[in-house]
Amino acid sequence: MKKPFDIGIKASWVLPMDQNPTQVLTDCFVGIEKNKIVAIEPLSKNHRKLCKKWIDGQGMALIPGLINAHTHLAMTLFRGLEDDTPLKVWLFDRIFPLEAKFVSREFVKTGSELAALECIRFGTTTVADMYYHPAVTMKVWDKIGLRGLFSQPVMDFPLPEDRTLGKDHWGRFLKNLKAYRKHPRLKFALAPHAPYTCGDDVLKKVAQLSSETLCPIHIHLSEAKHEEPESQTRYKKSQVERLFELGVLGPRTICAHSVHLSESDKVLLKQSGASVVHNPDSNLKLSSGVAPVVSYLKHDINVALGTDGSASANDLSLFGAMDLATKVQKLVSQDNTAMVAAQTLWMATRGGAKALGLDDQIGSIETGKEADLVLVDFNFPHLQPVHDPISHLVYSCQGLEVDTVLCAGKILMSGKKILPLKAEPIFKRAKSYQKQMRAFVDLLIKKEKNPS
Ligand SMILES: [Zn+2]
Repeated sequence: MKKPFDIGIKASWVLPMDQNPTQVLTDCFVGIEKNKIVAIEPLSKNHRKLCKKWIDGQGMALIPGLINAHTHLAMTLFRGLEDDTPLKVWLFDRIFPLEAKFVSREFVKTGSELAALECIRFGTTTVADMYYHPAVTMKVWDKIGLRGLFSQPVMDFPLPEDRTLGKDHWGRFLKNLKAYRKHPRLKFALAPHAPYTCGDDVLKKVAQLSSETLCPIHIHLSEAKHEEPESQTRYKKSQVERLFELGVLGPRTICAHSVHLSESDKVLLKQSGASVVHNPDSNLKLSSGVAPVVSYLKHDINVALGTDGSASANDLSLFGAMDLATKVQKLVSQDNTAMVAAQTLWMATRGGAKALGLDDQIGSIETGKEADLVLVDFNFPHLQPVHDPISHLVYSCQGLEVDTVLCAGKILMSGKKILPLKAEPIFKRAKSYQKQMRAFVDLLIKKEKNPS
């Protein structure tokens, strides 16, 4: 008998995230052919016979693959290094010298592989990454079968990779863009680092290249409190006003953070069609502030969810980010209905897909969309009983309950076992970097105490 489905998934709950963010289907079958979802039906006894491969998600919830819309993947290797030191010391006297000393192709490969393990483990199938040597990370992502939007940071200052790759940042951008133009899962973006690190010339060039190539722009916007007064002093305008005037803001622009925007900035951002990426872990840990997410949603601005890099957020779990994002908005609004779980899950799926310009391909469980799917196992004490799967996903799940992960119809994790990568050799290389970096930082501290 011909079997029409390559993979069939039985799930106790399916959260389609299509038009209605609160919709939950029960006892469902989802059929996959090649890389696409081709059927979503009430489960019947016949379904199993029609599938070449069967995945039994009894007691599990099927959700769209999560989308981390702002991160710096290779920074996993900085996780937990010199946490809780004053922000300026941490950034300028620790992270920047460490990057200058250690960031190489090999460093980025190890950090990206470690990040890939973590993304799969936490059910993230798509990322928007901004870091050095993006071609190295893209090779890692390509081999494993994950999806992503990658970018080469540009700013007025030299980059760590200039030593080996030269200073032709725009040439490198065009080369990467061309190499991945037709790739089914990987895309390339422009990444002016931030308004305060990029002069008008750099930003104008970014706007010009984006309009010529139609590629997205990924930028940090208004993260720390001091950025806005500095922008007013230097340019006599807010960061949003400046980016808008220079043509950087548009429907293809992804604005990470966006913590300190004025009401008129929000109106301008809405007018531009740009998306905001909320990174609650990083914003709270670096005490940057709380992004006015509820207000953005009222302005009908698209909001996605991100973790930021592991140097500031410590992990790449969107489950943690969803929990924190929802609770913080309730707290600052002093209204426990200001933001609800379904809105946050929407941000981590549909909001991310829209921000990355991939809304027609991913972010929901619908026929014709890519089979980026995650089964979350509710067979744990902290997830019983199941009154509301959406509440569990946002408020109760830790992330490690993720059981099965598919990206473009390829099974990347099954029964909580990651298939395309072996963890041990990656952990070993990460440990080697840990020792080298610790020794380097100890030397920096010694020099600071005894300047000669
Ligand atoms: Zn960032």
